[in-house]
Amino acid sequence: MSNRYKILVVEDENNIGSLIRALLEANNYQVISASDCTNGKMLYHSHRPDLILLDLGLPDADGISLLQEVRRDSFTPVIVLSARTDETDKVDALDHGANDYVTKPFSSAELMARVRCALRTSMQHSRPGEDSVFISDGFVIDYGARRIFIDNTEIKLTQTEYNIIACLSRHPGKVLTYSAIIKEIWGYKDCGSVKKLQVNMANIRKKLGAKPGKKNYIENELGIGYRMCERNEPLHYPSAPADHP
Ligand code: CA
Repeated sequence: MSNRYKILVVEDENNIGSLIRALLEANNYQVISASDCTNGKMLYHSHRPDLILLDLGLPDADGISLLQEVRRDSFTPVIVLSARTDETDKVDALDHGANDYVTKPFSSAELMARVRCALRTSMQHSRPGEDSVFISDGFVIDYGARRIFIDNTEIKLTQTEYNIIACLSRHPGKVLTYSAIIKEIWGYKDCGSVKKLQVNMANIRKKLGAKPGKKNYIENELGIGYRMCERNEPLHYPSAPADHP
């Protein structure tokens, strides 16, 4: 049983906390839980969990302070549990290094999918080098050549469009906020940046063949940012396959 993932749940609402615990245990995860920030921090340091589910509204302190403490010494994935109205909280949490968020009330299937995704992503701890190729369900990025293919057909992109996709692909499954992407691509933020990003993203989605109601390579998290979806588990190859187009 020692190979089970250990998950720390920090949640002050007892009914939600025990629901999450039951759900995780039913899925064969090991669970430790805290109902405030102080105990959450203590358990984090003493147990070194593989993943943290973190409520932001805690009785003794803001959950963000736990997140900051975790990020000072590890990349342990953190999924924030937030109420529907807290859009700025979600952005704030993501910008402080949270991997993802789940909005309450959430379905068990959704929560478990996010947990699996975050654990998988953290296993791919090494950043792909410039020569590596990202592959997800027919979607290939040749970082060395700065080219993108879908089902072996090259997608013609501008430099900025390529940079945005490459940036998202380095964090598969993770929501990147508008300001995180803008900082990465343009290095600064002004009042027109979000609009500029959205225009680029609209073009990207068109070029990637995005269709409403269909599962797409890049998902728009309204008012928050974008996420590159994992359809299959992406593979990071050390170098391009020999028969690469
Ligand atoms: Ca709470």
